[in-house]
Amino acid sequence: YNLNIRELQFKEELGRGRYGVVRKVFHKPTNVTMAMKEIQLNLDESSLKQIQMELDVLHSACSEHIVDFYGAFFVETCVYYCMEYMDYGSLDRLYSAGVPEDVLAKITISDSMSIIHRDVKPTNILVNAKGEIKLCDFGVSGKLNQSLAKTSIGCQSYMAPERIEPSTSQSYTIHSDVWSLGLTVIEVSKATYPYDPSTFDSVFAQLNTIVNGAPPTLDPQKFSTKACDFVAQCLQKVPTERLNYTQMLSHPWLAEYETREVDMESWARRAFETTQGQAPRQPVME
Ligand code: ATP
Ligand code: MG
Repeated sequence: YNLNIRELQFKEELGRGRYGVVRKVFHKPTNVTMAMKEIQLNLDESSLKQIQMELDVLHSACSEHIVDFYGAFFVETCVYYCMEYMDYGSLDRLYSAGVPEDVLAKITISDSMSIIHRDVKPTNILVNAKGEIKLCDFGVSGKLNQSLAKTSIGCQSYMAPERIEPSTSQSYTIHSDVWSLGLTVIEVSKATYPYDPSTFDSVFAQLNTIVNGAPPTLDPQKFSTKACDFVAQCLQKVPTERLNYTQMLSHPWLAEYETREVDMESWARRAFETTQGQAPRQPVME
């Protein structure tokens, strides 16, 4: 279906990130509520065409662990990207309600399945009233990714050490996403970003700790040995020592919960109800 801005009814703002606003919209012709992300780009015609082509490919790439993509359109130099609306919002707004190990394991399984093309962090992990967990945001359009000026350095980075301080032997690969996933698991488990910004006197001190300090760990008092081991193996400083995609899914922690029933729906409802009305946190930067 070719989306058109005139067929959309604008609802409330769902959040803001580095590149723009995400708004709830209602698509009248199909009766579908969507989330629409507006991204300001200052690009020439041919770059915009390339992005459009790359995004069109997304229509075919669907998975139960990734939010559906409904289409994108351009108005002047803005891209409007329409995706499945997830009514309970992102995990960063829910995790303060508490995330028990079985739920944490199910979330991790879902993230692991889509890690190849995702920017894993709590704001990109979305939850709906059915208790489904889905990732959003690109890594999907190379051209779009390149075009997003990554100028801001903030106090919450999910970048692996080798991305902060690249060397010839270590560069950005799939291993770097495994680091982000490990960090995300810890953040979700303790409802706070693992490198506490208030303990550093500058962003650089914090980035320095990511590069030179010991990696954060999952609390062994609260989580099983298997869970702690999984996270420790994602947060290896040397990229090639981290779990790879196959190893993640066959790790004893995820293997155990893969076959177990977890009532995600009840957890999601409770988390949503207890966190409703809390102010959304400030956009994070990388
Ligand atoms: P960054 O810009 O650093 O990636 P971000 O992921 O928070 O940070 P956006 O991707 O612009 O920034 O999203 C802003 C907020 O909108 C998210 O934090 C999330 O709470 C909300 N959001 C995004 N997509 C959806 C969606 N499909 N359904 C419901 N809420 C969404
Ligand atoms: Mg996002």
